[in-house]
This record gives sequence, C-alpha cells and structure tokens, in this order.
Amino acid sequence: MALPPHKMKLKLFVDIKAKKVLFAEAGKDFIDFLIYLLSLPLGTVVSLLKEENMMESLGSLCESVKNLPSGYWQPNQSNSLVLKPRCLFDSNRIPLKLSKMGFFYPQIYYCSSDTYMTDVPNLPCPLCKLTMTSRFYTYVGPSHMNSPELPDDGGFVKGMVTYIVTDNLEFKSMTTKEFCTLLNKLSIKDVTELDEVVVEIVPDEGLKLLKASMECMTVLTSVFFEDIGKQKTTQN
Ligand SMILES: [Zn+2]
Repeated sequence: MALPPHKMKLKLFVDIKAKKVLFAEAGKDFIDFLIYLLSLPLGTVVSLLKEENMMESLGSLCESVKNLPSGYWQPNQSNSLVLKPRCLFDSNRIPLKLSKMGFFYPQIYYCSSDTYMTDVPNLPCPLCKLTMTSRFYTYVGPSHMNSPELPDDGGFVKGMVTYIVTDNLEFKSMTTKEFCTLLNKLSIKDVTELDEVVVEIVPDEGLKLLKASMECMTVLTSVFFEDIGKQKTTQN
C-alpha cells in the first residue's frame, strides 16, 4: 500500500552488538529528502528546528530577529523575509516525499506604467514609485509539467535506482563494486549476519535527521538506533 506523503520507509543494516547502524539501503524518496536538506536556507532550518527546541544560539538569534520592531528594519527588509526565506518546496513542515510535491515558484508582480517587475507583492516600483501589484501568470520553472522528456516522478533524483547511505549520510548508487568496497571498509565478512530493520520515517525523524546532520558523523545511529535496540532486546 502506498504511504502518505509524510511517511517513508528506510531499510537499515544494523550491528546490534556494536550498537550501530552500519548503512541504509535507500530509494529515491530518502535521497530526495537528503538533497532537500541541503537546499534549505539557514533561516528555514532554524524555524523548523526551533519549534522542537532543537536549536541553541541560532534559536535565540531567531527570537531576537522575530522581536525586532518593524521601525528598526530598512524599508525593504522585514523579519519575515529573513525568517521565512523562499524554499524550493513551499511547506510549513518538513516534507518527506518530494515526489508528491511540486517545486515552489513565486508569483510575479509588475508595474503597470513601465517595465519593472518583482516577486515581492506591493513593492514600490524603483522608477515611478507606484506599488507593483499587477500580477502576471504564475512563473513556471523546468518541471515534468512543461518538459515532456522528464519522468513524472518529481523531486531531485530519478526513481528505480537503489542507493547505499552510510551513517555519515554519504550516499552512492548501489553497484556490486560499491557494495563490496563498503563491506570491506566496515570490515563486514558476511552480510547475512547483520540485522536488517525497516524503519518508518515521519516528520519527527525528518527533523531529527536534519539536526543530527549538523552535529555528528553518526546520523543514522543517533536517530534510529535507540528504538531498534529496544525492539531487538524485547524480541530476544
Ligand atoms: Zn513603475
């Protein structure tokens, strides 16, 4: 059964004794999500993590920006422009299945008396000073909707490819050569001895992945191992 847009699955290979997630076998959805993390402006990262009390000093900085009265800002600046910068995906919460979402493109507004235009509504025209409120049709960027040669699966990477993702979020397409190199690197003699666990990722884990990616080199272990460890202990 298809998972809803805010859930995805990930297969993890775990060393229970060493308390480590060694690597994950991932499809398009998880790789899209990792690439999406890179596309986020820092202001958005702070806003996303702040609600979960996950940010330290950047959280306080964010709070000060939010509380700075409008009279202190330059006329063309505001706290919402800084704290809610435009993202590739327009979403109030962290999206997990980018293939189910459209890229976000701005509306374009123009000055009715000359040739200036903007993507910020109600900005004064630099030439005639009139407010730019007239709206063009919505801007469309390259996407499957207007590029017939693009497959209809959205997001960043093509579907039908399997990737290996290591604990530090390094990822590669899973070829036999890459897989053997990884097993060697991790000193794994027999892959059948590893525990295989499928985890379901919901937005909460998405946020934890984002936070852990900025803090450590053992992201998959720190986000997923505790729950897996508990499951495995109760099973045994
Ligand atoms: Zn004008």
